[in-house]
Amino acid sequence: MTEKLYEQDAFIVKFEAKVLSCVKGKKGFDVILDRTAFYPEGGGQPWDTGKLGDVKVLEVHTREGEIVHTCSHPIEACARVTGIIDWDRRFDLMQQHSGEHIVSGLAHALWGCENVGFHLGAEVVTIDFDRPLTEKQFALLEETANRHLWHINSPVKIIYPSPQELEHITYRSKKELTGQVRIVEFPGADCCACCGTHVNSPAQVGLIKLLSMQKFREGVRIELVCGGRALRYLSGVMEQNTKVSHLLSAKVFETGATAERLLAENAALKSRLISLEDARFAQLAEQYAGLGDVVLFEDGLSPDGLRRLCGAVLRACGGSGFCACFSGDDSSGYKYAIGQLDGDLRSFVKELNQALDGRGGGKPDFVQGSLQASRQEINAFFQASSREGTCPS
Ligand SMILES: [Zn+2]
Repeated sequence: MTEKLYEQDAFIVKFEAKVLSCVKGKKGFDVILDRTAFYPEGGGQPWDTGKLGDVKVLEVHTREGEIVHTCSHPIEACARVTGIIDWDRRFDLMQQHSGEHIVSGLAHALWGCENVGFHLGAEVVTIDFDRPLTEKQFALLEETANRHLWHINSPVKIIYPSPQELEHITYRSKKELTGQVRIVEFPGADCCACCGTHVNSPAQVGLIKLLSMQKFREGVRIELVCGGRALRYLSGVMEQNTKVSHLLSAKVFETGATAERLLAENAALKSRLISLEDARFAQLAEQYAGLGDVVLFEDGLSPDGLRRLCGAVLRACGGSGFCACFSGDDSSGYKYAIGQLDGDLRSFVKELNQALDGRGGGKPDFVQGSLQASRQEINAFFQASSREGTCPS
């Protein structure tokens, strides 16, 4: 049985070990050592990576009670090797995992929340609680967790109690435990059965930032980041906000209010544009009144503008003719809206799309889409269709 150095001291970065076996596995070469500081995946915490001598350790798992290091290359059995843990990765995982203990333990102590799910992802940590929390409790949980990091100076304790001692310890656990139980205590925050690796003191977690809370089953799912990840996350958010602040000429704490004001201004402009467009569409429609089929081009219209222009012309023309409106340019193509009162444009539009590299559809009497063709090609298509009688009638 491999000696688990990571259980004795989670801060061992470098260690010496003897290779007990090395066999070809599915993803590389499976190496078993007499002792290891590599943490195998377990309890929600991902495996460590690093090196054994010059060979890369890609994954570490517990299989049939053995800790198996999946390596990039074979290592001779009986050789002595120096193992080095990828410490940036491991310390990040320890910060996330320890932060999760503190948040879960405090939520349990404050409101009786049970942690029923934990995932330590590459980006964020998620905790699932079995009951809902209010926004106020969510904010209080973050504040309390960070205050714990600042003010509680007690080292993290790890104990291996006897079954009799265990009966007198109140601890969190997701499942019924058998065999030797390992209890991890963050004094004042959490006491939990756990096999993972942890920091030595709450201060080493650095910072706990709760990112979001969503309803999940009977309770909530909370996303959080801790330590270096929290700092990088907040730096990224700040970088974005600084950009927005410069672009909007707003103070960094006023970007939200400024964006709100700009959106309201934008909505008012849109609404004014629509009434101006509608007035122009009514004038245009007058020119086509009573002319039958209409093909017209108008610059700078949105799909909604095209729809309204087409509607205005059809109302003015009144009869059974169709109206085809286009907006765009020869290099990037044209958007279209085509309508015919009580008509059926489906087969016509299929032909149009086929002939002019288009896509689109809609109801039998009204279709919208786009074409990759020039204005000349579009006009030619309508002239030819009209001659051949394929235009809707
Ligand atoms: Zn743990």
